[in-house]
Amino acid sequence: MARRRMVYEGKAKILYEGPEPETLIQYFKDDATAYNAEKRDVIDGKGVLNNRLSEHFMTGLNGIGVPTHFIKRLNMREQLIRAVEIIPLEVVVRNIAAGSMSKRLGIAEGTPMPRPIIEFYYKDDSLGDPLVTEEHIIAFNWATQQDIDDMIALALRVNDYMSGLMYGVGIRLVDFKIEIGRIFEGDFQRLIVADEISPDSCRLWDIETGQKLDKDVFRQDIGSLADAYTEVATRLGVMPRNGTVTSGPKLVN
Ligand code: UDP
Repeated sequence: MARRRMVYEGKAKILYEGPEPETLIQYFKDDATAYNAEKRDVIDGKGVLNNRLSEHFMTGLNGIGVPTHFIKRLNMREQLIRAVEIIPLEVVVRNIAAGSMSKRLGIAEGTPMPRPIIEFYYKDDSLGDPLVTEEHIIAFNWATQQDIDDMIALALRVNDYMSGLMYGVGIRLVDFKIEIGRIFEGDFQRLIVADEISPDSCRLWDIETGQKLDKDVFRQDIGSLADAYTEVATRLGVMPRNGTVTSGPKLVN
């Protein structure tokens, strides 16, 4: 069998050439990194969990008309996706203060935001992904004003969908990051959600106990990352609990 061509290797995923033009295969690794890859480890099963969780979220988003790159899951670690031109920005939405915003602005972790706050970070590891303004984005041609408006609209729709889904299983969506790609259809282009949506790129807190169920477990060494992600997956009905296959989300009273 011909060896397929690797297109890109990132910290947590590898992209391979897809079976048809304009497609790619996205492979989820078990590698975990934090603090711009200063802290790293291999977490058994993380790739499998993130592949399944990202499939679940992206399928739901596609289903409500929020376009994403996801086409279908191929196996435990791989999914078929649409090739996009990635916009070099990380779009962060915050519902509750945490992480870098709490540090930068001195706002206590856990403070609810009066409305979702959207931030853009320029994707450049050598600069540590700096926070940038819309002025920078337009001046340096990373995206147009129309792209920015479209990215904000997409990010807010993802936020509403993900917040509701998580609330239904007793989890607060504190914040998350998405990446957005450009696709070309004839003379037209549009923006779609790309990369992944998983507990690697979200902050998820149990509503009752405040327990962290996301990558902060790894960043802060406060328990088993695989257990935290498995908890999210089982509550959503994505993974079986104790060997019992569930068919859908389990509502928390
Ligand atoms: N995030 C991410 N990748 C990054 C930076 C942030 O997925 O390179 C996510 C992070 O998991 C959190 C949100 O974006 O859900 C906001 O992160 P923050 O700016 O607070 O940065 P951090 O505290 O992770 O440095």
